[in-house]
Amino acid sequence: MSLVVQKYGGSSLATPELIKSVAARIRSAHDSEGNVVATVSAMGDSTDNLLSIASKVSETPDLRELDVLLSTGELQSCALVAMALKAMGKKAVSLSGAQAGIRTDSSYGKAKIAGIDTGRINEELEKGNIVIVAGFQGVTNDSDITTLGRGASDLTAVALAAGLNADRCEIYTDVEGIYTADPRLVSNARKMTQVGFEEMLELASYGAKMNPRSIELGMVYQVPILVASSFNNEPGTLIHDGENMDTTVGEIRNRVRGIATDKDVAKITVFSVVDRPGIAAALFDPLAESDISVDVIVQNASVSGTTDLTFTIKQFDVDRAMKVVEKVAQDLGTTNVGKAENLAKISIVGTGMQDSPGYASTMFRSLAEAKINIEMITTSEIRITCIIGSDQVAKAAEVLHAAFELEKSD
Ligand code: ASP
Ligand code: MG
Repeated sequence: MSLVVQKYGGSSLATPELIKSVAARIRSAHDSEGNVVATVSAMGDSTDNLLSIASKVSETPDLRELDVLLSTGELQSCALVAMALKAMGKKAVSLSGAQAGIRTDSSYGKAKIAGIDTGRINEELEKGNIVIVAGFQGVTNDSDITTLGRGASDLTAVALAAGLNADRCEIYTDVEGIYTADPRLVSNARKMTQVGFEEMLELASYGAKMNPRSIELGMVYQVPILVASSFNNEPGTLIHDGENMDTTVGEIRNRVRGIATDKDVAKITVFSVVDRPGIAAALFDPLAESDISVDVIVQNASVSGTTDLTFTIKQFDVDRAMKVVEKVAQDLGTTNVGKAENLAKISIVGTGMQDSPGYASTMFRSLAEAKINIEMITTSEIRITCIIGSDQVAKAAEVLHAAFELEKSD
């Protein structure tokens, strides 16, 4: 019998009515496909609400207790979905991450999945149950509850699909799929019918609203992922590296596929740093220790033995990062540290850009013609990212979408 793993996002489960309609969708998948394992996010904004309650109880909530607390959001929705299925006369069972055998390391709040013991899920499937698993959580070897990071129910879904060797992994959410750009910014953004893992990983890492680790996992275990709406039956976007992708090489691949945008960017510059071996390590080690992830890094060519070092971080981390940097700056021979907030990243992504000149110049020219100043530039083999002012991101997305003709069908 085939096995489908489905995931339903928080906005698809926000009310009792929506929970019932998700249960109805799971029931019809079970009727038509056979075995179904579904994983669910917490209802609506409940994770945010739990975080806000925690912050009122403690300024720095204990991470172990915070994970116990946050895991309850997903437990609620998984119990409710199982309850709704049973009320429809279906056999169903809810399982917490721990009961489902999702083992993790012990980094609370961002635990990594170490493995999945699929025994219990398989037992329940054999009994004829639809299995509903609480998303975004697991358990350590010491039986402590962990969570996997914001938005990580996607990761639970892909991990379950890989661990159970499912035929498909389907992620149902409040959008109809993956778009060529954020439809809120670009009115003629187009839903893609398919996108490659590598491209999706870059899009997700640079702003498209999907958990990048779930894409990485899908790529490693070759689990095709369908992203579609839970509110209608429109076909979604298939993320895969299947044959279809290769046979259409000329058409689909040889160009930019999508634009990612991220408005959560700030930059810090350390001016007049003495240029000697070890400066980057001296600066970035303490940032890493403080769990601040640094993204774009630019070091200027040195003039008379000193250099300027600029890097971007999330806006959210800027004050903490400034404290860390100001402390180490003196050791680096300077006290001159500056920050700029309200920045954004805009990226063009496509495997077709590899080894093809011209994409960068088209991007830069289009932004220049729109009078958008580029503050920093960074590239990977299949992505070009510019840092710009966040108030210009909508305009930038629009002109790039037009310049690369992304509205045309794939
Ligand atoms: N409920 C968690 C969050 O809001 C996990 C998820 O939605 O995937 O981050
Ligand atoms: Mg959520």
